[in-house]
Amino acid sequence: MGKLKLALYWAASCGGCDMAILELYEKILDLAAAADILFWPVAIDVKYKDVEAFPDKHIDVCLFNGAVRTSENEHMAHLLRSKSKILVAYGACSHLGGIPALANMTNKQGVFDCVYKYTASTDNPNNVQPKTTVKVDEGTLTLPEFYDTVKTLAQTVDVDYFIPGCSPVPEQTWAVLEHIIQGKPLPPKGAVLGATQKTVCDECKLEKEEKKITKFYRPFEIIPEPKKCLLEQGIICAGPATRGGCDARCIRANMPCRGCYGPPEGVMDQGAKFLSAIASVIDAKEPEEIDRIIKQIVDPIGTFYRFSLAHSLMKRTRMAEEKAPEETKQRNTVAARR
Ligand code: SF4
Ligand code: SF4
Repeated sequence: MGKLKLALYWAASCGGCDMAILELYEKILDLAAAADILFWPVAIDVKYKDVEAFPDKHIDVCLFNGAVRTSENEHMAHLLRSKSKILVAYGACSHLGGIPALANMTNKQGVFDCVYKYTASTDNPNNVQPKTTVKVDEGTLTLPEFYDTVKTLAQTVDVDYFIPGCSPVPEQTWAVLEHIIQGKPLPPKGAVLGATQKTVCDECKLEKEEKKITKFYRPFEIIPEPKKCLLEQGIICAGPATRGGCDARCIRANMPCRGCYGPPEGVMDQGAKFLSAIASVIDAKEPEEIDRIIKQIVDPIGTFYRFSLAHSLMKRTRMAEEKAPEETKQRNTVAARR
């Protein structure tokens, strides 16, 4: 086999997945020796028109990170699908929607109003907001269209494999790339690579006993006892509802799992699984008491669907477009008071 033709792309994401590739450290030299990187906007100067000129299936493997929220993201998803033999949804945003998909709680106007109008630090008296075209003396400037709904890569194009994580653990990324470089057989299409069939709880070394929760804490509100399961101490941990593979890296740093590796094998909706796990450990019988305990969970959607809202059964909230700005205003007013 000749050198692997590799492409990497960054759609709606924070850049952490590109950093995860750089975190291969000295292995990046092995990657450079085994692969020609044909396209990687964050690192090499290859234009979209160069990719458009490739024959179909010219790229062997494309690691596509980031969710699909704009017409540019969507165009690149279709383009890289047609130019790649293997298209991999790389990282939580591409796999599940990730943090960008929490914007599915509102719509485009809600996001724009939040960013350009209502945030406390915004000074925008003319309410200037992004447009897809604007005329200037030199001609017409264009921007991609910003969509109401953030989608996963697989909700946009056909995807061959998924590598989960925010960001994927570099050792897992290398294991997958090395496997491909060595020409070893790949699992059936649709498989999750670089992860395990277990949950984060299964990989977590903390001691687990019976969980009975009467009070929930946010991580900054408590110094947890070492060696003891964080959830048993009232710190909401997504370990029971999250696919393993990261070797419980957050828990090893004394932070709860946030769920970035997505639902475990066989689970369709990670948030529902997480909610069910939390509901089962609440130690109360009276509805009022249960209600009091549940109300301690700040930001339930951001807690239970932090990475997986676009991928969930809900995908987004139902919202009449004209209501969005007012709801966003109210939410931001509340947030500004906190
Ligand atoms: S709930 Fe969290 S802290 Fe507890 S065992 Fe599972 S992963 Fe570890
Ligand atoms: S512990 Fe949870 S949030 Fe942290 S890297 Fe692993 S799956 Fe992601």
